Amino acid sequence: MQFPHPDSRILPHQILCPATPLNSTSKELKRVVGSLVGLAVGDALGASVEFRPRQYLVDHPVKDMQSGGTWGLQAGQWTDDTSMALCLASSLITCHRFNSYDQMVRYKWWYKKGFLSSTGECFDIGNTTRTSLDEFCRRQNIIKQRFRGLKDDDIDNLPLEQVRSVQNFNEYCGVSEHAGNGALMRLAPVPLFYFRQPEKAVRYAGESASLTHGDQKAVDACRYYAALIVAAIHGESKQDLLNEHFYENHKPWFGSMKLHDQVLHVARGSYKRPGGYKDGIRGKSYIVNTLEAALWAFWSDENSFETGVLKAINLGDDTDTTAAVYGQLAGAYYTVSGIPPRWAEKLYANTLIICVAESLYVEGSRSGNDTVQQYQQQMTTQHQSQSTKSISQSNQYRDSYKPIQQTSSGAYKGRIGYGVPSKQPQPQSYTTIHSNANYSYDRKQKTKKDPSTLPPAGLSSGHTKNWTSI
Ligand SMILES: [Mg+2]
Repeated sequence: MQFPHPDSRILPHQILCPATPLNSTSKELKRVVGSLVGLAVGDALGASVEFRPRQYLVDHPVKDMQSGGTWGLQAGQWTDDTSMALCLASSLITCHRFNSYDQMVRYKWWYKKGFLSSTGECFDIGNTTRTSLDEFCRRQNIIKQRFRGLKDDDIDNLPLEQVRSVQNFNEYCGVSEHAGNGALMRLAPVPLFYFRQPEKAVRYAGESASLTHGDQKAVDACRYYAALIVAAIHGESKQDLLNEHFYENHKPWFGSMKLHDQVLHVARGSYKRPGGYKDGIRGKSYIVNTLEAALWAFWSDENSFETGVLKAINLGDDTDTTAAVYGQLAGAYYTVSGIPPRWAEKLYANTLIICVAESLYVEGSRSGNDTVQQYQQQMTTQHQSQSTKSISQSNQYRDSYKPIQQTSSGAYKGRIGYGVPSKQPQPQSYTTIHSNANYSYDRKQKTKKDPSTLPPAGLSSGHTKNWTSI
């Protein structure tokens, strides 16, 4: 699929989704779609109460998608978590591989031009991400000096090999002391693209994180969580995913780089606290808190996406991101069929999100020669060497990988059971990434707010934008 030029003012729900030639009965495909839809549904559910403290959620628990609140969004609209995940996905799909420079360019488009934002504006950006993107813009001047005469568009679209030839340029702008959750919240596209090659999924999850978040805890949280998502897509049981030896059981995926001690502490089961908030689980933006909170929700969700995502949100604080992180793993585990249809149907631009997930699945299958069979061989070898591990727990997955079925249809039909919501207009126009369209947004930049200044959840803060009229 193709994505619009960042200056085209085309909003996500207006992007045309081509029919993808897929075997829709594939369990792995349903897990891939479930992960990205799960991320966006969690984000949208938590958006109206972002930054609310725990006590507010105790008094006013979220039970459904609601409008207004923190950002004055319509029910179903999503925030930076989903926008950045779509930017990352669009890079993997467009480049057909991991291109770190292109990823930063797309994050910059979102930050500066509202690319793949649910409102057409960047209205919610974390401080660490903003600092890193500002630094990236500054560093792009080094490339401009090297390629004098090229327009900004041309600089953004330079092949990675040419960028690599520029001395003193480095697109990795993360700073080591910044351990926020801004990389984990957007992670899913990497494991969804590379699930057939777990080592690459884990390695690139770390590299993708360090573009904006240089702290080793933030990087390793993404490596660990990517491994969990990959394992979930391959159908590993919940017992295996939450096993305190998950890291050791999947050690080859992590290469020679050990996990940070604090991330390893979480992986060992620090989140298994029956009392939840009372036992110290927090929905804060510090990466260890977020990782712990999302896994606590998954561990205690009674095998229900609905139960888990609401538990994540009702911890309070960074509600949308805790839920988006939960949704990436839980969506992969329960598949898209496990996400309540009323939420999936209300999700803004749900057709695009499903289409993007399908494209990650398809393009990922073309990205290398590795297949699921190689994953199975590796796991079989590993399990044979671990005589203490129950064989019955090691072969839960294993839907064999089937070649993509070609179809002649060119029109969109409802994907995995979800049609286009009636309130959203049908796609109206389409522009490729190299379009010369020259529009601009009237942009407003917002940053994280002081919760004490927020209007009550469920009420408009005055920034409501009717996306159907844009
Ligand atoms: Mg957000």
